[in-house]
Amino acid sequence: MASVDKAYPKKGAKRFRGCGCEEHWQVRWRDPNGKPGKATFCRKLDARRHGATMEADKARGTYLDDRDATTVLEYAQGWVASRRSSVRPGTRRLGR
Ligand SMILES: [Zn+2]
Repeated sequence: MASVDKAYPKKGAKRFRGCGCEEHWQVRWRDPNGKPGKATFCRKLDARRHGATMEADKARGTYLDDRDATTVLEYAQGWVASRRSSVRPGTRRLGR
C-alpha cells in the first residue's frame, strides 16, 4: 500500500516556495521491483490519488500476468473438454 504523510517546508521557511502551501503531502510507494518511489503534492487528495494509481498500475501488471496464464490454461482445458464431449461413444454410434 502507498502511504501518505505530511511534508513541511525547509527549516526556517513557513511556506513552500512557489505554491505558498504551509504543508504538503508526500506519497510513497514501491514499484513492482520493490524500489521505493515518492512524490509530493499540495493536496492530500492528489497524493492519495497518485499513490492509488501507482498501486493500481502495479496490481494491474501482476494481475495481467496471472490472468494471461490462467486464461490460456482454462481455454486449453475447455477446448479439450469440448472435443471430448463431441466424440462421446453415443454420438459416434448415432453417426454410423
Ligand atoms: Zn503546495
